[in-house]
Amino acid sequence: MLRTEAFKEMKQNGGSEYGGLDDFRMVAAFLVVAIHTSPLLAFTETGDFFLTRILARIAVPFFFMVSGFFVLKGENTGGTVRKFMKKTAILYGISMLLYVPLNLYNHYFQMEGFLKNFLKDIFFDGTFYQLWYLPAAIEGAAVAYFLLKKLGNKGALSVSLVLYLIGLFGDSYYGIIKGIPGLSGLYERIFSISAYTRNGIFFAPVFFLMGSIWAGKLSAGKGKPHHISFVVPAAGLAECFLAMTAEGMLLHRFSIQRHDSMYVMLLPTMYFLFWLLTAFRQKGNPLLRKMAMLIYIIHPYMIVLTRMGAKALHMEKWFIENSLLHYLAVSAESLLCALLLLGLWGMRKGRKDGPEKKKSTGKDPEGKERAWVEINLSNLRHNAGALKAIMPGQCELMAVVKANAYGHGANLTADCLRKEGVRQFAVASLEEGIALRKHGITEEILILGYTDIRRSRQLKKYRLVQTVIDYEYAKELNACGLHLPVHIKIDTGMHRLGIDSRHVEQISGIFHLSCLKVTGIYTHLCVADSLEKEDVEYTENQIKRFYELLDVLKVKEHPDIKVHLQSSYGLLNYPGLSCDLARMGIALYGVKSALGDVTRQKPDLLPVLSLKARVGLIREIEAGETVSYGRTFTAERDSRIAILPIGYADGLPRNLSCGKGSVLIHGKRMPIVGRICMDQLAVDITGEEGIKPGDEAVLIGRDGLEEISAEELAYQADTITNELLSRLGPRLKRVPVF
Ligand SMILES: *Cc1c(COP(=O)(O)O)cnc(C)c1O
Repeated sequence: MLRTEAFKEMKQNGGSEYGGLDDFRMVAAFLVVAIHTSPLLAFTETGDFFLTRILARIAVPFFFMVSGFFVLKGENTGGTVRKFMKKTAILYGISMLLYVPLNLYNHYFQMEGFLKNFLKDIFFDGTFYQLWYLPAAIEGAAVAYFLLKKLGNKGALSVSLVLYLIGLFGDSYYGIIKGIPGLSGLYERIFSISAYTRNGIFFAPVFFLMGSIWAGKLSAGKGKPHHISFVVPAAGLAECFLAMTAEGMLLHRFSIQRHDSMYVMLLPTMYFLFWLLTAFRQKGNPLLRKMAMLIYIIHPYMIVLTRMGAKALHMEKWFIENSLLHYLAVSAESLLCALLLLGLWGMRKGRKDGPEKKKSTGKDPEGKERAWVEINLSNLRHNAGALKAIMPGQCELMAVVKANAYGHGANLTADCLRKEGVRQFAVASLEEGIALRKHGITEEILILGYTDIRRSRQLKKYRLVQTVIDYEYAKELNACGLHLPVHIKIDTGMHRLGIDSRHVEQISGIFHLSCLKVTGIYTHLCVADSLEKEDVEYTENQIKRFYELLDVLKVKEHPDIKVHLQSSYGLLNYPGLSCDLARMGIALYGVKSALGDVTRQKPDLLPVLSLKARVGLIREIEAGETVSYGRTFTAERDSRIAILPIGYADGLPRNLSCGKGSVLIHGKRMPIVGRICMDQLAVDITGEEGIKPGDEAVLIGRDGLEEISAEELAYQADTITNELLSRLGPRLKRVPVF
């Protein structure tokens, strides 16, 4: 039941990409440049106030809202938020370094009370004037996330509004409380920590939350393209902006403002602006995102440059005294500089990828020509960290990389994890172990499954640890005389591999076999994924049997014997168990086995794998014509059909045929029609203009705000993600994403 509901919710996720937001980033960036150059000042003081202190004040809240929109969407966004904070912190660090020359020039480091002010700047005000935005974005995201997690949408929004209100009285409305003794003292204390209340605590959170709530609204299906009119938000925006203008002018007129970033009407203005912008559906443009951010960060340098240049060329009249030309010059220089930096960045990346391209397969430079799998290594690292965080202190993560790391590419996955400090790997078969060794993995590798005794020499040669799957097997392996390390598998109720936990004599007998060195003992839980009472009892009984056996064997007295029993769901549902290793498979790859699975521990796990293919061909068919084998699909209208070069031989389940499955193209969900073939499938793209051969289609993963999760696809195909992913075939190249 739970599963179908979760599924319905996912199906409703309408929407496409929000190019309008990206376009407006550029507008916002140039508005910020206006704030710092006052383009109209030479001509009209009121006009300047209106432009820089009222109109341009929508720029920064807009940036916060966009971040909230993309970063704080949905409930399980802890990982994304942390990533955003980390990225912003790195950008902040680089920006601070970039401005050290200007800091030196301004004698910044000689200021009085340097240390205190420096800390204040780092955490709130920025070490150069425009940089305050970066710590505010980090803090705003953290506060908004925290509030969301604790209080939900409504509660979080209420608290952030109270914070905004407090901020207002330290900003545009300061004149009102200035005279009140207790209050003004309080605000003085705030100002001794942060020069303004327009910071990450009072100012940013409400906008992050508005963005996040708006994203939730859109993905819940409200406001789909054809329901959206531009009239309502445009009218709302005009009214609210007029009211904000009046508010600002009045406050200015009566000298109530201490600063002029925060207005009451700014909130509804931003709401309608965002509504209007998200109504423009077009493909997003990541380049504009980067460009806007670069312009924001570098424009103060361009201001200095313009002034120095104008002086050197004796053109002060033109480029300093004429504020409008000054603004245009600074804007043009900032744009050029941003383009230059992006170009350099692109070249550097090109070079970095260059040699690798040649090394791979010559003719197949990227592996992204037909159909491929993308492996997000930073999500993999994140998941390893998130899982380690819920393990008891002495417990180590054993990465289960069997079945080509559940389809993720065993070499790629193991390389990434060993760099993260993972020292233990597990595979299903001898061949998998040998392949990892040949690839250069030097860490422990445990074979979980059966290995033919005749191949025991290879166990020795490749230093692989074999599982002893029963007593007979142990004796045969011992008879080879090879001195092999082994882990003993105990059967506590799954009745697959392992020695019955009640056969204590046999088990302790293995410790006495002269050619086997027992370095581990483990069991496997068979219903740890279920929280049904009966299943929990069964699992607890398995756990009890295992620990009782360990007591009888006095395993604790042998610190070099590794004890382990949890796989992914074992850890997520029974996290506190005392053991040395936890064998992590599916959770490491950031997905649940089935849609709607609920676990006691809920670490933020991020999906690592995406499955993509290119549109190979687009064809028009007439109403009444059929598509693919068996003629199961008949077009009801004249239709456009995209043929994708991926099929069941790549591991895409054939029972997703005939509309059961869908793909994302240009951020929109479109149905698979007709039967899936061995190497290709057909998608109905009728009504979607602009799709052309060569465009990317997403079969598992995210495209814009839309996502097809592995869980959803597995559900549609009547299986679990473990099967779906591990069957993705060798024809698909695994392409790492960093
Ligand atoms: C596959 C396997 C695992 C990993 O299971 P997940 O549920 O994917 O974490 C752990 N232990 C054994 C014995 C396995 O066969």
